Amino acid sequence: MTTREKLAALAANLWWTWTPEAIALFRRLSPGAFAVTDNNPVAALRVADEAVLNDPDFAKEVDAVHAAFEAYMSADRRYGDAPPTAYFCMEYGLHESLPFYSGGLGILAGDHAKAASDLGLPFTTVGLFLRGGYFKQYFDAQGRQQAEFPGIDATEHPVTLVTDASGLPLTVTVHAGWDEVHLRAWRIDLGHTTMYLLDTDFSANPYHLRFLTRRLYQGDRTTRIRQEIILGIGGVRMLRAVGVEAEVFHLNEGHCAFLTLELLREQMARGQSREQAEAAVRERCVFTTHTPVKAGHDRFDPGLFIEQMRGFQHAISLSDHDLLAYGRINPNDVTSPFNMTVLGLKLSRTANGVSKLNGEVARRQWHALYPDRHVDEVPIGHVTNGVHLPTWTAPHARPFLNEHLGPDWLEHRDRPEVWRKVRDISDEALWEYRRMLRRTLIAFVNEYLKTQTLPQEAALDPDALTIGFARRFATYKRAPLFFYDKERAIKFFTRTDRPIQMIYAGKAHPDDEGGKAYIREIYEMTRHPALKGRLIYLEDYDMEIGRMLTSGCDVWLNNPRRPYEASGTSGQKVAVHGGLNLSILDGWWPEGYNGKNGWAIGEEASHLYKDPEIQDPEDANHLYDTLENSVLPAFYERDERGLPPEWLARMRNAMEHLPYAFSAHRMVTDYLERIYRPAPQSVQR
Ligand SMILES: *Cc1c(COP(=O)(O)O)cnc(C)c1O
Repeated sequence: MTTREKLAALAANLWWTWTPEAIALFRRLSPGAFAVTDNNPVAALRVADEAVLNDPDFAKEVDAVHAAFEAYMSADRRYGDAPPTAYFCMEYGLHESLPFYSGGLGILAGDHAKAASDLGLPFTTVGLFLRGGYFKQYFDAQGRQQAEFPGIDATEHPVTLVTDASGLPLTVTVHAGWDEVHLRAWRIDLGHTTMYLLDTDFSANPYHLRFLTRRLYQGDRTTRIRQEIILGIGGVRMLRAVGVEAEVFHLNEGHCAFLTLELLREQMARGQSREQAEAAVRERCVFTTHTPVKAGHDRFDPGLFIEQMRGFQHAISLSDHDLLAYGRINPNDVTSPFNMTVLGLKLSRTANGVSKLNGEVARRQWHALYPDRHVDEVPIGHVTNGVHLPTWTAPHARPFLNEHLGPDWLEHRDRPEVWRKVRDISDEALWEYRRMLRRTLIAFVNEYLKTQTLPQEAALDPDALTIGFARRFATYKRAPLFFYDKERAIKFFTRTDRPIQMIYAGKAHPDDEGGKAYIREIYEMTRHPALKGRLIYLEDYDMEIGRMLTSGCDVWLNNPRRPYEASGTSGQKVAVHGGLNLSILDGWWPEGYNGKNGWAIGEEASHLYKDPEIQDPEDANHLYDTLENSVLPAFYERDERGLPPEWLARMRNAMEHLPYAFSAHRMVTDYLERIYRPAPQSVQR
């Protein structure tokens, strides 16, 4: 193989997205092209500098990375005996150059798929080829968020059209209403995991059907239900067409739940009774719910549902009443919408929330579906989310971790003894690590601000306590809570002995006026004379910004309205970098927080669904008090060596205990042992 061929082979498998050595090679091919394409290796390779390609030293490095890739692909697969699993999700966050994710759900799905590859599970994922992606965020002169859908050109990305034996695109069809929709699929390889992304945007379809798979979470209810028919029903048909066998179907959130109806149709077409067919579907399906927020559960007007399911209904011959019943808590309530979560719960053998607290909340939320059971017996458990450490550990953090945890720490990241080595790192080295990561972030921010449409000054201090907040601007996450009491908030920035600085990022859904107002509120604050340059809003939050912020910030702020944050994962990304969480005890944090590895805002039991008018000031004041009385002293009180002992103790504790427990390695192993593997009859309902 030539050097170019080896690079092409590396670019074609998203293994490179979690391999910094591979990314560094692509960057060197053409630093400019790489940067402007959101770090896309295919683009960099196309315009590669021949002098670099022909450099023998470069070729040697390519050889080494390529050999590592081959070794990864041919190594024994730890869980090769696991039941073959098909994982369905509406969005996937794989890399910043493939922007078909909006937030935590997609990132989690991408991390799950990558960890499944690392662990060697037979794993296939299904989604939509959303070539317009979610939106890119920019701002008009008045500081109002604008959305642009740039479009993914398939020829410029590591995706391949799935073809049949004769080389023609493999297609399947579904009915949306009476419209016949043709679907083709794009394949993405993530290590061992194969991903199929369905696409209607080609000449077999009339124009009004071609746009269906263009954009994520945009468009009217008809578009949404049609997308979900394509994902669920079309996804199963595409798996059949490519010959993928699955014993387990994992429904990641309700958007894909129509897949259960397609499995039901298949069983009934084989002559099974409806009861037998339902039992067979349940045996194979498992369902994960990701949010207590009502808008996160798709509900379709019964008229719209029946209209759009007409063609499908014809093939399964169920009455309107019977079909609608699968999505209704009470089948005889004819006004009730069709709820995708209810469908997922009814036709799965087991269901789970994504943290211990979220499991409890989900049991209460869906209690009505199980009226003869006590709320504690509602059959929804939990598997707490985790993050894919190879993806989320900053490349520039790795030399330090390799040195202190051993060169194969990532290989053995599920062994607590790897993390125990943090105890042996000297205070000096640990503090220098934190300073290096903060300085690298600040240099990144200074450069990034030059490209923003929202003008901002940068005057970040490389030695000041740096607080980060980046996530979707869904209102329950309360982005501007820190500015609840503006006077008190501003004082934290202006005191010369113990100053803070803050960096925000995040997109609001284009229809979410509340979220957009939150962005304006924070942007307004960035222009306050006392905060200028020290409070920053970074636009167009994506995985790259996520990686920079979670690695560089000292404190990661998370202040959702409890209990709406089902898990949250951004805070799980900071611990390996020695960052500390300052968070409401919501989502994963009640499981992660041990009193010595970060800070809690507010108390655990006291504020489940409190009136926001009471909860917001309470949480804001507790946040200020904790910052004042605990976070600032920990960071700024120094010993004779100039080091902060209290901070270092917490940092050490967090690094030892959090990365392993909240890794996707642990999460996928839990899914395997508790959800995928158990024989259906052993699962309690
Ligand atoms: C990790 C991550 C998220 C999820 O963050 P939450 O804390 O769960 O809201 C969302 N978007 C990006 C780009 C991320 O990297």
